[in-house]
Amino acid sequence: MIGDGAAGIMIANKSRLKIPADRLEVTVIGKSPNHYFKPDGIHIPFGFKDYRNSVKPNRFLINRGITYLVDEVTSVDIEERKVLTRGGRTLGYDYLIIATGDRYTPEDVPGYESEAKHFYDLEHALELRKHISGFRGGKIVIGRASEPIQCPPAPLEISLLLDQYFRSMGMRDKVEMHYLYPIDGTFSIPVVSRLFSGVFEERGITNHTYFNVERIDAESHKVISYEGETQDYDLLIMLPPHRGQKFLTDSGLADEYGYVDVDRKMLNYKGHDDVFVIGDATNLPITKAGSVAHFEADYLSSRLASELSGSPLPEGYDGTILCFVEAGMEKAVTLYYTHQSPPRALFTSKLDHLLKWTSTDTYFASMVRGLV
Ligand SMILES: Cc1cc2nc3c(=O)[nH]c(=O)nc-3n(C[C@H](O)[C@H](O)[C@H](O)COP(=O)(O)OP(=O)(O)OC[C@H]3O[C@@H](n4cnc5c(N)ncnc54)[C@H](O)[C@@H]3O)c2cc1C
Repeated sequence: MIGDGAAGIMIANKSRLKIPADRLEVTVIGKSPNHYFKPDGIHIPFGFKDYRNSVKPNRFLINRGITYLVDEVTSVDIEERKVLTRGGRTLGYDYLIIATGDRYTPEDVPGYESEAKHFYDLEHALELRKHISGFRGGKIVIGRASEPIQCPPAPLEISLLLDQYFRSMGMRDKVEMHYLYPIDGTFSIPVVSRLFSGVFEERGITNHTYFNVERIDAESHKVISYEGETQDYDLLIMLPPHRGQKFLTDSGLADEYGYVDVDRKMLNYKGHDDVFVIGDATNLPITKAGSVAHFEADYLSSRLASELSGSPLPEGYDGTILCFVEAGMEKAVTLYYTHQSPPRALFTSKLDHLLKWTSTDTYFASMVRGLV
C-alpha cells in the first residue's frame, strides 16, 4: 500500500483485521510519519481546538502485523510489479493499492502564493489564526483557486465559523464577508446548496456565483475571474489548487493533473485486477473526503479477503459518503448519500454539531484503526 494518510492506514488496518497473516502480508510505504486529522483545520484558525490533539504518530495508528516503511515512492512499474523508493528500495507485490492523496500546487494560479491564506494543512491553519485574530475589520473574501478540492463543504464551514467568531467578538458589523463559487448556488448538490444559500442570507454573507479564479493581483489586492469579474479584499482565504502526485504522472498511471483513472465501483486501475486506487488519488467525480476513503477501504478490504479465501466477491463500492458539515453557531448538518440515492431534505442541528465536534476522537479511536 502506498500512502500513509487516511486511506492508506484504513485499508491496511481493515485488511489486516479481515485477512489472516498467513494469507496476506501487508506493507505500508509512506512519507508522513505523523498523521494530521485535516477536518480540524476548520477549527484551528479560531483556536476552537488545540492542534496538538489533531496529530498522532502513525506507529500508534497502524495495527500490529503490518510493516510500515517511512519512505517516498518515486516510481511504479505495473508491468514488472515493482515499486521504487527514494530510500533505494525496490519492492515487489501481488496487489498494489495506491492511496497517495493529492498535493497543493499554489504555482498554478498567478499571485496565489503571496496573497492567499488557507487552512488546508496544519502550518497554514496556524498561520491563518494570526490573520484572523489580528483582523480589525474590512472585507474578507473566501473561495477556491480551482477544482477539484478536498472536502468541498470546507469553504462553507470556514465562512460560517468566521461569522460566528466575529459575532462572538462583537465586531460582526465591521466585517464584510463575500463567498466566491464557480457554478450556480453555494454547493454542487442542489439540496445542500439551497440549505447553505439560506444560512448565508441569514448570516449576511454575500455569494458570488460563476466566479472561476484566473489570477490574483497582489498590488491592488484583487481576485480576477475568467468571467471578467473582480473582487477586492482585505483578507483573502482561498483554498489552494490541488493535483495528484507527480510520480503517478511520471509512471504513466495518471495524466498531467496526477489523478488516476479507476473503475468507479471496483476501484481498480483500468484493465488491471491487481492495482487499486482509493481516497483522494482517484479521478472519480465524487467528493474527495476521508469518509469516501473509509467506505472504499471497507469494500476493497472485503474484496481482498474474498479473493484470497475463494469466496464470492462483494458488490463494488456504491458511492457511500457520510460527513458532518459545520454551519456555525453550534449547528451542523449530516450529509449521507450514495451513487444511487442523493441526499434528501436537510436541516442543521446541535446534535450534528456534536457529531462533528467529537469526530477527531471517533476517527483516532476507531475509524482510522479499521474498527468501524
Ligand atoms: C480542511 C479540511 C477539512 C476536511 N474535512 C473533512 C471532513 O469533515 N470529512 C471528510 O470525510 N473529509 C474531510 N477532509 C478530506 C480528507 O481529509 C481527505 O479526503 C483525506 O485525508 C484523504 O485521504 P487520502 O489518504 O486519500 O489522502 P491523504 O490523507 O492526503 O494521505 C496521502 C498520504 O500519501 C502520502 N504520500 C504521498 N505521496 C507519496 C509518495 N510518493 N510516497 C509515499 N507516500 C506518499 C502522504 O505523505 C500522505 O500521508 C478535509 C480536508 C481538509 C483539508
